[in-house]
Amino acid sequence: MTKRLAAPSPSALNKASLMPVDATLPYDDQNIFARILRGEIPARKVYEDEYALAFHDIAPWSPTHILVIPKGAYVSWDDFSARASDAEIAGFVRAVGHIAREAGLVTPGYRLLANAGPHSHQEVPHLHVHILAGRPLGPMLVQNDSHK
Ligand code: AMP
Repeated sequence: MTKRLAAPSPSALNKASLMPVDATLPYDDQNIFARILRGEIPARKVYEDEYALAFHDIAPWSPTHILVIPKGAYVSWDDFSARASDAEIAGFVRAVGHIAREAGLVTPGYRLLANAGPHSHQEVPHLHVHILAGRPLGPMLVQNDSHK
């Protein structure tokens, strides 16, 4: 079997084609963010400390699109908030704020987004917070009356 070493290209990551994950399943240590944490595939890192790693999203939705992930093995926000230690939670939340501050996003503003489970269309089963910024981001969700 061939081991994939390169990160997928943005075109390969057609947002509409990726399947949402079941965030209630046990942690899968072969998920792409686990592999980034282990250094098995590259990422454009912007920050790292004891609790968090941040890197640019490979298929950005906004001029600034940074993903922040905890160092620990947590599937989703639900898993993290239930099982992580107080130190991990504090360290992760402080890292997200620090990264946004250091990127100069406080004055223009930014959006945090964490998908959890199928209805959110979470694609990667390792908790990640999206930092979206760099232009007016519009309403919180795409307006679609048929899906209210
Ligand atoms: P979500 O739908 O919340 O699970 O978001 C997953 C995000 O991970 C998407 O925005 C993808 O573009 C991004 N992504 C997937 N693979 C990589 C990768 N190798 N490096 C950086 N971002 C990635």
